[in-house]
Amino acid sequence: MSLPKIPLAGVIGYPIAHSKSPKIHGHWLKTLGIQGAYIPMEVEPVNLKDVILTLPKMGFVGANVTLPHKEAIMEIADFVTDRAALIGAVNTLIFRADGKIQGDNTDGYGFLENLKNGAPNWAPQAGPAAVLGAGGAARAVIASLLDAGVPEIMLSNRTRVRADRLKSVFGNRVTVYDWVQAGNMLDHAALVVNTTSLGMIGKPELRVPLDGLSPDTVVTDLVYAPLKTKLLETAEELGCVTVDGLGMLLHQAVPGFERWFGTRPEVDRAARTAALL
Ligand code: NAP
Repeated sequence: MSLPKIPLAGVIGYPIAHSKSPKIHGHWLKTLGIQGAYIPMEVEPVNLKDVILTLPKMGFVGANVTLPHKEAIMEIADFVTDRAALIGAVNTLIFRADGKIQGDNTDGYGFLENLKNGAPNWAPQAGPAAVLGAGGAARAVIASLLDAGVPEIMLSNRTRVRADRLKSVFGNRVTVYDWVQAGNMLDHAALVVNTTSLGMIGKPELRVPLDGLSPDTVVTDLVYAPLKTKLLETAEELGCVTVDGLGMLLHQAVPGFERWFGTRPEVDRAARTAALL
């Protein structure tokens, strides 16, 4: 009698030691009693392709991909989902039984699920969203907000050309503001999203003036270290509903886990605690 295979998955990055994904997936594997493993893998860009092509032969059913590989992996996957193509990056790989490697991007899904859970009264049609930042995370946020039906995205980034580039990808529902005028976007915003790394431990604070915020505006930050950024703290003082970035990290992990290990995990208090350990 042959024993069942133990499914393996992991996260590939360079560096990787800071990643919270092994804690999140490890928690779910343990609490769900699944015999499987999820490990961090530090892989230099030059070795990425070799490693990816070897993993399925070693019993891996998939992997997460993080910085700096999220774009390069698009060329290695046999095909990518529509949402990954739109975002221009892959964060989840599925090694299929037919030998094909599928790339997906679950960041936008994770962002939206976190928002819906943390601000259940927010509706996409409520009004424009102000997005600060135009890096990789902003692309996933904008794609998911437009797909959900947000009427307009007001976008501002320190390096304006990156914001203009996103407008050319996502079209005329995106309006670009100069970085020095970012505060003006907040007057009309039903939702404010910080996708910059500002406010993160070790980085400068976000200095956009927040006096335009109304208590009806929902404010969310992708930064999750610290959990309560200055942006969220100030917004809370003004009476806004706020949503921290840890939930996005947890929710974006759900589709991969379900696909690899066959059970949909819960994003609950215990999972949040495990991610923070
Ligand atoms: P990225 O592609 O490197 O983009 C960084 C963004 O921050 C750019 O818009 C950049 O503006 C801006 N920025 C950096 N330093 C700045 C400064 N001193 N002043 C003004 N703007 C500055 O990074 P990313 O992948 O988009 O990630 C952005 C943040 O989101 C990170 O903190 C990351 O940890 C977080 N994140 C969280 C989740 C989650 O699950 N919660 C998921 C993804 C990302 P320029 O274009 O002008 O450089």
